[in-house]
Amino acid sequence: MINHPKIKTTCSYCGVGCGIIASVDSKNKVTVQGDPDHPVNKGMLCSKGMNLHYVVNDTSDRILYPEMRWSRSHPRERVSWDDALDRAAGVFKTLIQKHGPDSVGFYVSGQCLTEEYYIANKLVKGFLGTNNIDTNSRLCMSSAVVAYKKTFGEDSVPISYDDIEQADVFLIAGANPAWCHPILFRRLEKHKEKNPNVKIIVADPRKTDSANFGDIHLQLIPGTDIILYNAIGRRLIETGFIDKSFIEKNTEGFLKYRQQVMSMSLREASKLCGVSVEDIKTTADLIGTSNGFISMWAMGLNQSAIGTDKNYSLLNLSLITGRIGKPGNGPFSLTGQPNAMGGREVGGMASLLAVHKELSNPIHRQEVANFWGVDQISPNPGLSATEMFDALESGKLKAVWIICTNPLVSLPNLKKVEKALANAKFVVVQDISHRSDTVEYADLVLPAAGWLEKEGTMTNSERRISYLEKGIDSPGEAKPDVEILCEFARRMGFRGFNFSNAEEIYEEYVSMTRGTSIDISFLNYDRLKSEGTFQWPVPEYRHTGTPRLFSDHKFLTPSGKAIFNIPTQVINSSEKPNSEYPMILTTGRIRDQWHTMTKTGKVSRLRTHYSHPVLEMHLVDAYVEKIKEGDVVEIKSKNGTVRVRVKITKNVREGVVFLPMHWGKQLQNDLNRANNLTFTRVDPQSKEPDFKYTTVSVKKY
Ligand code: SF4
Repeated sequence: MINHPKIKTTCSYCGVGCGIIASVDSKNKVTVQGDPDHPVNKGMLCSKGMNLHYVVNDTSDRILYPEMRWSRSHPRERVSWDDALDRAAGVFKTLIQKHGPDSVGFYVSGQCLTEEYYIANKLVKGFLGTNNIDTNSRLCMSSAVVAYKKTFGEDSVPISYDDIEQADVFLIAGANPAWCHPILFRRLEKHKEKNPNVKIIVADPRKTDSANFGDIHLQLIPGTDIILYNAIGRRLIETGFIDKSFIEKNTEGFLKYRQQVMSMSLREASKLCGVSVEDIKTTADLIGTSNGFISMWAMGLNQSAIGTDKNYSLLNLSLITGRIGKPGNGPFSLTGQPNAMGGREVGGMASLLAVHKELSNPIHRQEVANFWGVDQISPNPGLSATEMFDALESGKLKAVWIICTNPLVSLPNLKKVEKALANAKFVVVQDISHRSDTVEYADLVLPAAGWLEKEGTMTNSERRISYLEKGIDSPGEAKPDVEILCEFARRMGFRGFNFSNAEEIYEEYVSMTRGTSIDISFLNYDRLKSEGTFQWPVPEYRHTGTPRLFSDHKFLTPSGKAIFNIPTQVINSSEKPNSEYPMILTTGRIRDQWHTMTKTGKVSRLRTHYSHPVLEMHLVDAYVEKIKEGDVVEIKSKNGTVRVRVKITKNVREGVVFLPMHWGKQLQNDLNRANNLTFTRVDPQSKEPDFKYTTVSVKKY
């Protein structure tokens, strides 16, 4: 048994990336505390991070041994690792031989460590010969990825948490960091407490804790974000609070932007988005006269049928005011998962290649193929998350390997996901917990090591790479994901997977970054262990990391200029409330739960905040439907039904209801699942599903 008394590591929940010191006692029990020396959290932890040790110490739900079934009519039974991986390799070889490489796919997770993400991508894109590998980050970040790429030339978050203390105006758009990124929000709160002139504006259809703390709440109608941000842009142009010199020297496309935002008056915009002209003007004037302007956003913008366009409209506000590459200024997308950023760096999506290379670019494909010593990377576009499940349902995709994610709760349109998994010829689930609803559909279950049971690296929202040390052994026969994937690859007969540890995989990956814009080729495990965390790029031996990008205003686009992208659609018109489904449903997170509750759901003190899912409904809507506080209501969309209790509030807009996304079938019953109601409707640019705009009816049950 390894017995490190104190292990410096990183929280495995959200993308804030708080440092944790884990202690292991003589009975192998873990306790956690915030790392006082960590630059992100300086010793603080939120309720989820503070209770992380309960998840580790309670192994009652852990998958301990490989389990397999020979056919769907047989129960799964315990098998050896050899039998499990031989079968997996046998099935994958047969399917690829019979139906071609695009008949198989991998669905991975923003909770995977960077080494795991890298090796899964190398395996699938380099050696299985398909680009069918996507991640649950598709469900939260892909609209921001596309918008950053199209605006700055690469998927690069320009600023750092340290910019917060240098800014005086914050626009929090479609995010509730008070609950979903709590330690980051504490930093904002402290900054405002010390500097009462700091202004926080929150744009959200719900009056969240973040909005309550802010100075101005722009309670917009769901789906009208672009109208609002364009109206703010118009006011900035009209009042002259724009940076003409920056626009001229460093951007392209301003005239088209100007044309679009000037085409709608503030009064018209106000009518459409439900925010008063006064609030639009005040917001624009605060931004225009600020010394430092930071926008922060999350799922309210990204998870939409027009998510990428929403991102453009917000990024454009930073461009017209020239607020990029300067201290205390910039657009900051908040990542929901601990390593969504690391996954993006190693090409962890169907549309990406490692080190920010493009799958659609034949030169990039050949460079990556040469690096891995294979003839070519397939030019066929890979299936995105929802496309993968569509293809399983239609029979085009025969086998799926699911790692560290629970699509049977988190994907939209769950009846479809159930059908897809039932129709698959072979489903592998590689995970830590039997609490994942998806395990029920697995033909092969592979036990993975969890947090603190393996080593590797992660990158947080501000491009900060941290090393996570192994502190304890895994229970049963669970193994680190990289070992499982490398053993499978060797059984497939592939060269290039003879790594003896995670560090060797990391070394291979970082050598690939040399000379690129995300160069970390001089950042090795020794430096991460002895010197702490670093923000990429780290392009020289003694380089200490890069807190801010684009300080020289040289962007990564072909012209070197940042680009104003013009939304093609300014309002989410994918559905319209009607007499049958008159309300708009938005889904999201609650403070103390994480994703599909496979970890946080087993910690009793995290269930005290919300013990069960409730629908938030405006009191006028409730009055009309004769619904009282605590009543059970039936929510229906064209897609399905949910039955939960109701919480009557003034915090949502009239006509809007909110339901948490965490609950799955296994924990209660399948009528608690918010994604019974949502549709497989995606943004055409980012393929990110829309979880924020589903028309529903709500009736007393
Ligand atoms: Fe963990 Fe995020 Fe909470 Fe920090 S803010 S402790 S990273 S869940």
